[in-house]
Amino acid sequence: MILILNKMPRNSRKTNQKLLIDKQMRTFSGFFSAHDLFGRVHEHDATIGLATVYRFLKDLREAGKLYSYDCDNRQLYSTTKKSHCHFICEETGEIIHFDVNSLDFLKDKIPGTITSFQIEVRGVCKKCD
Ligand SMILES: [Zn+2]
Ligand SMILES: [Zn+2]
Repeated sequence: MILILNKMPRNSRKTNQKLLIDKQMRTFSGFFSAHDLFGRVHEHDATIGLATVYRFLKDLREAGKLYSYDCDNRQLYSTTKKSHCHFICEETGEIIHFDVNSLDFLKDKIPGTITSFQIEVRGVCKKCD
């Protein structure tokens, strides 16, 4: 008779990894990149790879629990921020972030419910004007 002791359920390691990634993700109050999150996760468990972090973010996004934005050719994420807004100075190309909390002024023009949005406004900043 062969007795296998301490046989862990197949998914338990994966589940623990997800819990750790989730916990570290909640420490960001604003925006974060996959690398930012990976850095924090890595401090606690060096066996978790970047690919696992990416998969976690992808699943969460598909479940509608994570918002994602394009910031200066980088993908940024947030669990709380439902918008990401850029004012881009045309003189220097500098990106200045600003907050818009609601798109009520567009409500009548959008044929659906807004979950998140990204705004890009171009102009000349005060420093260059
Ligand atoms: Zn940005
Ligand atoms: Zn400027």
